[in-house]
Amino acid sequence: MLAFYQSLGLTAHNGFDLVAKDLEPCYFNYYGKGKVYRLTDDPLLGVGVDVLVQDTEGIFQLRFWHFKSYVVKAGQEVESGDLIGYCDNTGQSTGTHLHFDLAEGTFQNNGTFDLINRDNGFFGKIDPYPYWDNRFVLDVKYNVEEQVSILQKMINTIKSLIGLLLNKGQK
Ligand SMILES: [Zn+2]
Repeated sequence: MLAFYQSLGLTAHNGFDLVAKDLEPCYFNYYGKGKVYRLTDDPLLGVGVDVLVQDTEGIFQLRFWHFKSYVVKAGQEVESGDLIGYCDNTGQSTGTHLHFDLAEGTFQNNGTFDLINRDNGFFGKIDPYPYWDNRFVLDVKYNVEEQVSILQKMINTIKSLIGLLLNKGQK
């Protein structure tokens, strides 16, 4: 596998590969807001969504890759929990998974966005771990499902309370 990454000009793999099911929804997982910076739908490269976020430490590019399709538009603001696409196996991939990577960048005077340390052997991608703490919600899907189930329980409770009140009224 290392030879494959080296054939792409990389020192080694430049991000995380997370196991995913076919068409599994992918949610934006940064704790704050981001802006969709670039959408790619290319027969060779695959389908990917690049999002920029700005925080106290700089401007960062988050990439989500190998999608079947995306559901966001360029320039769109996204926040934690927003659906961005559906996982697949497009591009340089041998099985359905989500590729995620992180890079720091900066805007040039002419408005173009450039990665810092592009020649670091990973095309500018950096180890997310030092940056990661408290900035990412790793289980957005779980949180969304949990919130839905809490809401569902509340609705059921309200319904049964209304039922009790109506029954009382009839007596
Ligand atoms: Zn990968």
